[in-house]
Amino acid sequence: MPLDADALLRSLDDRADEMVALTQALVRIPSVNPPGAFYRDCAELIGARLAKRGFAIDYQRAEGAPGDSDAYPRWNVIARREGARPGPCVHFNGHIDVVEAGDGWSLDPWGGEVRDGRVYGRGTCDMKGGIAASIVAVEALIDSGAELPGALEISGTADEESGGYGGVAWLAERGYFSKPRVDHVIIPEPLNVDRVCIGHRGVWWAEIETKGRIAHGSMPFLGDSAVRHMGAVLERFEHELYPALAAKHTAMPVAPDGARQSTMNINSIHGGQAEPKEGLPSPVVADSVRAVIDRRFLVEETLEDVKGEVRGLLERLARDRPGFRYALRDLFEVAPVMIDRDAPVAREAAAAIERVLKKPAQFICSPGTYDQKHVDRIGKLRDCIAYGPGILDLAHQPDEYVAIDDLVASSKVMALAAGKLLGAL
Ligand SMILES: [Zn+2]
Repeated sequence: MPLDADALLRSLDDRADEMVALTQALVRIPSVNPPGAFYRDCAELIGARLAKRGFAIDYQRAEGAPGDSDAYPRWNVIARREGARPGPCVHFNGHIDVVEAGDGWSLDPWGGEVRDGRVYGRGTCDMKGGIAASIVAVEALIDSGAELPGALEISGTADEESGGYGGVAWLAERGYFSKPRVDHVIIPEPLNVDRVCIGHRGVWWAEIETKGRIAHGSMPFLGDSAVRHMGAVLERFEHELYPALAAKHTAMPVAPDGARQSTMNINSIHGGQAEPKEGLPSPVVADSVRAVIDRRFLVEETLEDVKGEVRGLLERLARDRPGFRYALRDLFEVAPVMIDRDAPVAREAAAAIERVLKKPAQFICSPGTYDQKHVDRIGKLRDCIAYGPGILDLAHQPDEYVAIDDLVASSKVMALAAGKLLGAL
């Protein structure tokens, strides 16, 4: 029997309550990262549910990954259902971890309360609502009784909020996100229901240390102040680096607009004597100051260029400024990713958005990274997007919610796109 798209869409309208109930059930498991709690519970909730639809369930603990311990094991679940005949595999990947609730909530962050057409709670938006919508979308496809070629996969993975090393990265290293096992990946992160996210900017975190020489604070000329040297670095940032970053243009459709360029945040500066808990400080010249920078870059830039810009600035200071000594240490790096708008998964998601929402899809890139980086770099699988319900700005905020209408609309888009990618439509 061929897939009837209209009947599929109607059946998803009828499943709104199921999406709400599944979102609530997931939100009521406080899988907070750090430390990475209750992953097994979340994984089993997903696995037990999909087993009933004929999925083979595979639980994988990322042993040896950062953060994995017997107290906080990094459990992942991968569910796979083979279709009627060979064909491509469509994979939905959601991270099961959430950030801490934090302060400022007007309702229970772990309650999953429904109010005014919204489900509230930590992770409703980022991204347990997206996981629920993708699961129900896939169930509706299966329940349609249509012949589905290929295979469907759904994974719930750990640690996205802390880099994904105990989740998608670990699985990708073991072949879970590569051909021939998987062909198309949709990550239902909260990027708004009418937007297809085709990639993200790159990241370079580094620590810059300026070095000085300790001396008595009443005779600073006998020492050499690392704080003043860091001040010189900051001045060069203001007058040279920031204007240069603002002048870079990109073809990446990064949203929001402010991130449609290179950016750099000075994450922290620590130096000199630690502030005393009580009493007065003692007079010393600072012998070391460390700044952590968070540089986000574009597909038009290479990591070497990005590092070279900062190193060049420091080298010029070392040449021009008496006594200037520094160290530059890499902390973390991620390459930028952007796939074509007409890549199969992006094209089909956009077509489905147009059909369901009756307006053209918007293509965007994310200002920050998410697990697509591992699918791309480790899995070598390009055909991956982020698409899901929820408003990006609400992620990690108090009173986070997902709108029930968005759950339903996104599930329709995901079901249609998957049906098309499998060749059932
Ligand atoms: Zn997320």
